[in-house]
Amino acid sequence: MADPIVAIVGRPNVGKSTLFNRIAGDRISIVEDTPGVTRDRIYTHANWLGHDFRMIDTGGIEIGDEPFVTQIQAQAEVAIDEADVIVFVVSAREGLTDADEKVAKILYRSDKPVVLAVNKADNLEMREDIYDFYSLGFGDPYPISSVHGTGVGDLLDAVIDGFPDEEKQEEDHSIRFSLIGRPNVGKSSLVNKMLGEDRVIVSNIAGTTRDAIDTKFTADGSEFTMVDTAGIRKRGKVYENTERYSVMRAMKAIDESDVVLVVLNAEEGIREQDKKVAGYAHEAGRGIIIVVNKWDALKKDTHTIDDFEAFIRQQFEYLSYAPIVFVSAKTGQRLDRLPAMIKRVSENHNKRVQSSTLNDVIMDAIALNPTPSVNGKRLRVYYATQVAVGPPTFIVFVNDPEMMHFSYERFLENQIRAHFDFEGTPIHLIERARK
Ligand code: GDP
Ligand code: GDP
Repeated sequence: MADPIVAIVGRPNVGKSTLFNRIAGDRISIVEDTPGVTRDRIYTHANWLGHDFRMIDTGGIEIGDEPFVTQIQAQAEVAIDEADVIVFVVSAREGLTDADEKVAKILYRSDKPVVLAVNKADNLEMREDIYDFYSLGFGDPYPISSVHGTGVGDLLDAVIDGFPDEEKQEEDHSIRFSLIGRPNVGKSSLVNKMLGEDRVIVSNIAGTTRDAIDTKFTADGSEFTMVDTAGIRKRGKVYENTERYSVMRAMKAIDESDVVLVVLNAEEGIREQDKKVAGYAHEAGRGIIIVVNKWDALKKDTHTIDDFEAFIRQQFEYLSYAPIVFVSAKTGQRLDRLPAMIKRVSENHNKRVQSSTLNDVIMDAIALNPTPSVNGKRLRVYYATQVAVGPPTFIVFVNDPEMMHFSYERFLENQIRAHFDFEGTPIHLIERARK
């Protein structure tokens, strides 16, 4: 199941993002290799003493020109909606403020565990002078210094104590998928249309977090779980149309899915935010289907589909493995194809191939296009083996991994794809030196 979520809340300037970066550590500086992707630093994966979790810096969700009170209220609501555990940050330097009490009042309404962090307690004296903060009513305050790192370990121990029991989560063998895309591309219309009519809705099951409702249904004889249907169907909160929030939602849905439908709007073409969102799904190694919605709204001739497809291929070069389908949530056109496509991509994403066949393919590939050599030294490929699924991951044993250039790796990947059906899924090749 998906890792638990920790949300960091607090009034501006208490040090939320400093704490977020401190906990995320060097994960956050991972260099992106997908064009168009810049890491939005409000959602990340983290780990403490072997516990994986996800983290949201709610301070990064700013809503246009809304007044201060609306901003902090919205941020606290995001924490309540999304998190399993909330870290409420106040400042030892400024002491208790009215704004802190406003945040506290909103958090009282939640039944999620709240851990109180008194940040900027940079020295011993400040670490001991935290008694005022008991009045907030969240139990023991944890004095920390996000800048120096002191106290953060004890804080995280308390956070992990608040995680839900893993054993309570039941096993689920359905195919999990989500729809992602910027606002207005038609996600909720697609959800409604797909779940309507002849689909049998099995149940609404609560996900890892209470408010993320997943919907199960059966189609073509298979069970599917549509992830986060509650988040897609609009609930009308002020923060739901901010870009940061929708990106955060998308990243969260991606984490909880096997297959991701990247929804585009045929009427509006491709925007920067589409690339960003698709880039996250690619980086996460999920199965991907590109769904071009509102196909009914376009004036078409015989070239339209081919032209549009060529344009998408050019704009999303790194998604060359993803099938594209042109649909309309309005008329229902081609929506009946989606379950079978999702199933196939999910199977490919979890496919294992035989080592003997794999090595035949690779040796044939090398015979066809010999490995490169540099200064008289030739790259040698000895053996390849699949080590993981979801996405399929292969270790290729070579004499010198440095000599495996991007273009030759791409060639091997294409040869593998030509022999096995991996449509819809990224595949990873990892070179290892064998002596
Ligand atoms: P946010 O608005 O809550 O996300 O706050 P920031 O993380 O942007 O921090 C606000 C300011 O407080 C920055 O100037 C930080 O350098 C500073 N700050 C953050 N944590 C600490 C800390 O532990 N000690 C001190 N002295 N300053 C801190
Ligand atoms: P979301 O923000 O991605 O969930 O988008 P919505 O589902 O709310 O749709 C945004 C707007 O696009 C609404 O006005 C829909 O009626 C409209 N819309 C959605 N799907 C289609 C479609 O297939 N064709 C047309 N013409 N309009 C659509």
